[in-house]
Amino acid sequence: MQNIPLVDLAALRQELAHDPLAAWLDWLPQALDTALDDERNGNLPRFQQALDGLPTLRAQHVDLRRDQVLIGQADEVDAASRSRIEHALRGLMPWRKGPFEIFGIPIDTEWRSDWKWTRVLPHLAPLAGRRVLDVGCGSGYHLLRMRGEGAALAIGIDPSVLFTAQFAALRQLAGVTHAHVLPFPLEGLPEPAQGGRLAAFDTVFSMGVIYHRRDPQEHLAHLLECLRPGGQLLLESLVIEGGAEDCLYPADTETNPSGRYAMMRNVWSVPSAQMLKRWMQQAGLKQVRIVDETRTTLDEQRQTDWMRYLSLAGFLDPHDPTRTVEGFPAPRRAILVAEK
Ligand code: SAH
Repeated sequence: MQNIPLVDLAALRQELAHDPLAAWLDWLPQALDTALDDERNGNLPRFQQALDGLPTLRAQHVDLRRDQVLIGQADEVDAASRSRIEHALRGLMPWRKGPFEIFGIPIDTEWRSDWKWTRVLPHLAPLAGRRVLDVGCGSGYHLLRMRGEGAALAIGIDPSVLFTAQFAALRQLAGVTHAHVLPFPLEGLPEPAQGGRLAAFDTVFSMGVIYHRRDPQEHLAHLLECLRPGGQLLLESLVIEGGAEDCLYPADTETNPSGRYAMMRNVWSVPSAQMLKRWMQQAGLKQVRIVDETRTTLDEQRQTDWMRYLSLAGFLDPHDPTRTVEGFPAPRRAILVAEK
């Protein structure tokens, strides 16, 4: 039985020691203790048990540049080890962001996150040697792709302890370094003066998060704090069609107090791409450009064997797939980039 840490603090201590992010080491241990407290999160023992069920194996073949990220080929392990790995990974379901192939086990996730990456990558300043932050990183699929592009350090933050555990499993099996998922929301990082949201990152990503924030301007301000001057922000969001004045506020009705949009809770605002652009300009970002706008299809987000809950098909009006079950426009997403 091994004891796989949810966050590899020992590695972080080494990797951050001579980095502008060294100040994080002052608050990180205590913040992790608080975030990873069994009392606060009743599921933690279950996640830890799943993790600890992984055999002590390191993949020989790892390919972080593949759409289906490769961590170990099938012939690297025997059937017994493969079935232990699969059992452990299934203990960390639902798997939403991927796909992966792990020692011959295909993890077909709810999202084809590789499609988003294909839309994002051509618009990024080359990631080689850069320090990147992925806010709302989920399982860390994109973090691995960022390391695959040569990012020197890829930090993801996400308040979900399950996703932190998923990444811990991937990290352990792949033996990747300089890539970490930390279980914090962006606004939960200490203030810049306390060494939290330091202007230390060359590229900051916020994909699929801003519409969950009640105050999108505050989210943008926090993202900006994490960027070094001249650094690049990549923002991806649900959007509606329309001009700079158009924004959907799903929670703005008495019938929908929790802000449900496509059955997702806490969707506070779905702006048009133009409005998003204006918000970014108002936040002080430069050269804001809309680089992609795509409708989310039933092939990109769907139920799979690794995510058995309802997915997009169940969130759309069965009689009119251009509408969500709540009657809002069906999901479309935009990608914007800008510099600080
Ligand atoms: N970035 C990934 C995942 C998007 S799903 C992608 O684009 O494919 C949105 C993620 O944001 C979820 O994993 C959720 O836990 C996380 N999240 C929600 N609120 C957040 C916040 N305030 N700070 C950081 N992450 C947040």
